[in-house]
Order: sequence, then C-alpha cells, then structure tokens
Amino acid sequence: MRILIVEDEKSLADIIKKGLEEEGYAVDVAYNGEDGLFMAENEPSDLIMLDIMLPVIDGMTILKRIRKTGIKTPVLMLTAKDALMDKVSGLDSGADDYLTKPFLFEELLARIRALLRRNSEVKTSVIEIGGIIIDMATREVKRGGKQILLSPREYALLEYMAINKDMVLSRTSLTEHLYDQDFDLDSNVIDVFINRIRNKIDRGFDKKLILTVRGAGYILKG
Ligand code: CA
Repeated sequence: MRILIVEDEKSLADIIKKGLEEEGYAVDVAYNGEDGLFMAENEPSDLIMLDIMLPVIDGMTILKRIRKTGIKTPVLMLTAKDALMDKVSGLDSGADDYLTKPFLFEELLARIRALLRRNSEVKTSVIEIGGIIIDMATREVKRGGKQILLSPREYALLEYMAINKDMVLSRTSLTEHLYDQDFDLDSNVIDVFINRIRNKIDRGFDKKLILTVRGAGYILKG
C-alpha cells in the first residue's frame, strides 16, 4: 500500500515516513501544499495523510480540489489540537477521518489500516482466504495452522493482493502501489517477490493461491 504524506513539519513528516516504511508501506512526502496537490492528483496513492495548515496551498483547499476532480482516495486529516472547525469542515469536505496532533504512532497505524480496508470486503483486521489467514494488525500470516514468516515487502505485497483478492493485478499496478515515486518501475522486482511468497505460502499445498494470468499479471484466488 502506498501512502502520500502532505506535511510541512519536516521532522514529523520524515519520522512518520520512516515508521510507515518499517511497516512495509511505500511512502511519498510533500512538504508544501503545491507539491501535495500535484502528487495527490498524479501519484496512485492508496491513502493521503493531509495536514491542514500548509504553506502555498492549505490542506482544506487541496481536499476540496481533489474531491472535485473525482479522486476518491481515502484522506486522513491531521489537525491541530482544539481545531474543532477544521475537523467539522474537513469531514464535510470529503475527509474520511482525522487525527489530532500529537498522536501515537500505533493509533495512526490502526486508522490507516481501517481506511485502507474501507473500500474492500474486508471489515476486520483479519483476512481469511482459501485457508490462509492474514492478521493485518500483527502482520502474522498462517496457512494450515503454521505461521509463515515474510519480510515487510513480501508481507505488503501479499496483503495488497489479499485486499484485492480475485482481481487480476498487473505488475505495473502492483509496483505503483508498493513502491514510492523514487522506485524504478521497469524492474522485475514484483516477479521476484511473487516467487518468494509462493515458496512460502503455496509450496506443499495442492491448492495454489497465487496464480499467474499470462500477459496480464497475478491474482490471489480465494
Ligand atoms: Ca502544518
């Protein structure tokens, strides 16, 4: 999953980016409203964390602009303490949730998980597909009662495929949602990760969960 952070407090933005990357998310950062608006409109983000008080273009204007252009990406607003009107008008302008600064990183993670599964069929933090169990809160994966150890990148790919189960996902779309804008899109890295995940979750089982769709990409079938 790919997250765009629009936040002008550089130290805060950078610490959130680092923490989210450790959790396996791909993260882009904009330090002002102009860059933030451009990236919100042009990068395939799965979620946007949007500060309200921003230089050049404020967060509320960005929010209204992207909703007006039909971008439905979930938006988590970051508001200052006691800024009740920001929360109210933000939610009215199309924000999906808000978080008051300062916040605990664990709470941010929980809200991100909730927003990312909002548009899928998955309503809790546990996904069960074809005998595999993925706990998005603890990032534990089990199949046949056995725990499967995945690297953060492997986990992120599997989770993204699970949330979008039964949909054919192209290499380009997988790369775009799992890597930030500094990543070279031509790489065959997705194939490498798919093979590693298959070795861990499908080897030894008759029913293969990850299937190749020739010329199109991959699909996780339930
Ligand atoms: Ca700010």
